[in-house]
Amino acid sequence: MKDIIFDFEYLAPETVKEALELLSRYGEDECKVIAGGQSLLILMKQRLISPKYLIDIKGLSDLDYIKLDDKQGLQIGALTTHRSVEKSPVVKSECSVLAEMEQNVSSVETRNWGTIGGNVCHGDPGGDPAPVLIALNGKLKLTSLSGERIINAEDFTSDYYQTALHHDELLTEIQVPRLPPNTGVKFTKFSQILGDYANASVAMLITLNNKGLCEDVRIALGSVAVAPMRAKKAEELLKGKKINDELLAEAGQIAAEESSPTTDAEVSEEYKRELVKVLVQRVGKEALERAKKA
Ligand SMILES: Cc1cc2nc3c(=O)[nH]c(=O)nc-3n(C[C@H](O)[C@H](O)[C@H](O)COP(=O)(O)OP(=O)(O)OC[C@H]3O[C@@H](n4cnc5c(N)ncnc54)[C@H](O)[C@@H]3O)c2cc1C
Repeated sequence: MKDIIFDFEYLAPETVKEALELLSRYGEDECKVIAGGQSLLILMKQRLISPKYLIDIKGLSDLDYIKLDDKQGLQIGALTTHRSVEKSPVVKSECSVLAEMEQNVSSVETRNWGTIGGNVCHGDPGGDPAPVLIALNGKLKLTSLSGERIINAEDFTSDYYQTALHHDELLTEIQVPRLPPNTGVKFTKFSQILGDYANASVAMLITLNNKGLCEDVRIALGSVAVAPMRAKKAEELLKGKKINDELLAEAGQIAAEESSPTTDAEVSEEYKRELVKVLVQRVGKEALERAKKA
């Protein structure tokens, strides 16, 4: 029987430095990094990509950690599996929305092997972690042989599967700042099948001031544009105001207009806009309640 994946040379670096050296040795068309392989192997099986060298970083335990720094907040190694984030007591107590989001990423099997870093680097506009990280004002640490740089999660993905990652870089850490007081965050995705990719998703962070007015708000949308995006006009509407159902309904309408979904095999463009409208209201209401209790 014909092989479904083209032959490749398998490389298993033992350190991050070795992985970076391999990346800089081989050209962009020649090699690819593999972490959990949950997205990459699908592309290889479909022969959409056929790297000559596969650099397996899954064994780099230095990049598998969850830490909490008093000043900098959560630091999650890029090779931390979805399941570890979902189950982490530190994540649950510091930033429960991340653990909640992970509960509905695919199946337990995929979450046990797929990594949060691999998900972000894949750059799928329907990936679940990205909108949550954007709402949380998360940052990504990218490392190459020449050093490190930090990029806002919001600026990382620009188009379908297009990210700011240079060929010689690895995503090494995901950083989530500590939540300010009186802040609530909520994420919801809508999909036809439980655990499948979202038809639309919304993550929302709301911070209230001591008068109960909206001091800060971040609304991030997934699956409704070529990349995860912020609904900045909807955010502007809410800032400085006392958030109520009517305002959230208006914000939902504005966010739906800001989004630019396309019809796909499952649902139409109009349906996705309707989802954004409804989800912003629902998610906003929950985020508000959480902010009041925080
Ligand atoms: C059946 C199924 C259903 C799924 N449903 C969902 C879903 O509902 N929601 C969702 O969000 N995801 C879903 N996924 C994707 C899943 O979350 C994957 O775990 C994730 O997208 C990829 O993680 P990985 O570690 O397997 O990365 P890989 O597949 O190994 O790599 C993905 C890409 O990232 C690059 N890469 C990986 N790690 C790094 C790194 N540290 N630095 C630089 N580049 C890197 C690789 O070169 C590749 O281009 C689904 C996957 C499957 C198979």
